[in-house]
Amino acid sequence: MKRAKHELVVIGGGPGGYVAAIRAAQLGLDVACIDENGPLGGTCLRIGCIPSKALLESTARLAEARQSFEEHGIRLKGIEIDLAAMMHRKDTIVEMLTRGVDALLKRNKITRYLGHGRLEGVHQVVVDGEDGAVSLDAQRVVVATGSKPATLAGVEPDGDRIGTSTEALSYQEAPEHLVVIGAGYIGLEMGSVWNRVGSKITVLEALDRILPGTDLEMAKEAQKILQKQGLEFRLGARVERAFVDHGQCVVECEGMEPIRCDRVLLAVGRVPNTAGLGLESVGLQPEANGEIPVDDGFATSAEGVYAIGDCIRGPKLAHKASEEGIACVERMVTGYGRVNYDTIPSVVYTHPEIASVGRTEQQLREAGHDYRKSTFPFRANGRARTLGEMEGGVKILADGKTDRVLGVHILGPRAGDLIAEAAVAMEFGASSEDLARCCHAHPTLTEAVREAALGIDNRAIHT
Ligand code: NAD
Repeated sequence: MKRAKHELVVIGGGPGGYVAAIRAAQLGLDVACIDENGPLGGTCLRIGCIPSKALLESTARLAEARQSFEEHGIRLKGIEIDLAAMMHRKDTIVEMLTRGVDALLKRNKITRYLGHGRLEGVHQVVVDGEDGAVSLDAQRVVVATGSKPATLAGVEPDGDRIGTSTEALSYQEAPEHLVVIGAGYIGLEMGSVWNRVGSKITVLEALDRILPGTDLEMAKEAQKILQKQGLEFRLGARVERAFVDHGQCVVECEGMEPIRCDRVLLAVGRVPNTAGLGLESVGLQPEANGEIPVDDGFATSAEGVYAIGDCIRGPKLAHKASEEGIACVERMVTGYGRVNYDTIPSVVYTHPEIASVGRTEQQLREAGHDYRKSTFPFRANGRARTLGEMEGGVKILADGKTDRVLGVHILGPRAGDLIAEAAVAMEFGASSEDLARCCHAHPTLTEAVREAALGIDNRAIHT
């Protein structure tokens, strides 16, 4: 077996792993990165965030051309969808970005191994590649193996009609009727994509609300907007079985008539990729949910083994994984490095977008926290009017005594970009007064954030 030696071996080349590898190289370590997929970037880049955003963008433009161009005085005749071209654009973006990650690794002189990486005892990692195995002597190992779609008992993805987001990113034609199981991030994003292309969408959600974990008020408003766009929601619908019968899919829910449709998208969460990693060889045992236990510095109980990203606790978000990757290796090298989990934003890229950072109103209420609340609607924002995007608004929650911003929730145009201001403000421990006293350019959507902050003290100007 071939042998090599590295100061740091990162298993996984997704947004957790490749970012950790680059930061470690910047800090002077001799780094290797293992991934079993040729193109780097992990789920996020290959079959997640990036391709879904490409399709969301294309289909949003289609919807815009069909629904609002006329109002702008733009008349188009015979708008057609070329699904193959749309898919080609998505694939090209993915290809370009994965090549970019490859180039970044090269530029940082990170050794790349193609194959399945696994621990084989303390400070030992084996890469099982196509050309045989390589044994690596590793001073330290960062496990960044990510996650995979969760399965549901009774629902067996067949990789075609009943599938996960991976298949839904590449349907060759628009399904006539797509049933989405789960009204979470993936369900709403991919449901939106295919709804815009003409599919009938039924979203089945076990809970009595969509987007669990998101501020309830925002989630309810988002549901109304998405329903207007054509998505059908059935809440309290716990799916028990889905199967293919005579070329059609049948979905069965507790207490409901079976639904017949032509495709099923299973989107009920993600589970860590921790099987086949040789964790037992260093005395590690994942939790019942598959997550690898780590301390505040991302160290496991095994000597020299760390874990970050979707394979540990916390939200399964690419940017959370990257933050952890950076903090983990900075701590290794410098002794410092932390992640502030209170200021990690999350974004659902529906139209309009739904973005939040910090605590929800329900969390504050449940904790008996004294808070003040203000909301500002986009219909009162000049820029939103000119964009023709008046739905939703900005909601700010601030401490009742200190005025410190505790949570910001935005439903509206470019909410995913607007939330950055709130995240930075919260990272700096800002009060709503701080936000309210900052000059925001006119006419921009950001003025809605300022107005919401002013509203905490009943000083909003435009309501
Ligand atoms: P999710 O956790 O966001 O939502 C899953 C939904 O499925 C929940 O609402 C849950 O109640 C429901 N559900 C569970 N069992 C069910 C059943 N038997 N019948 C009906 N409904 C059921 O999961 P997801 O949408 O699959 O996304 C997976 C992960 O990927 C998320 O953790 C998310 O953070 C991440 N992601 C993020 C983005 C983004 O940042 N924009 C986009 C896509 C995915």
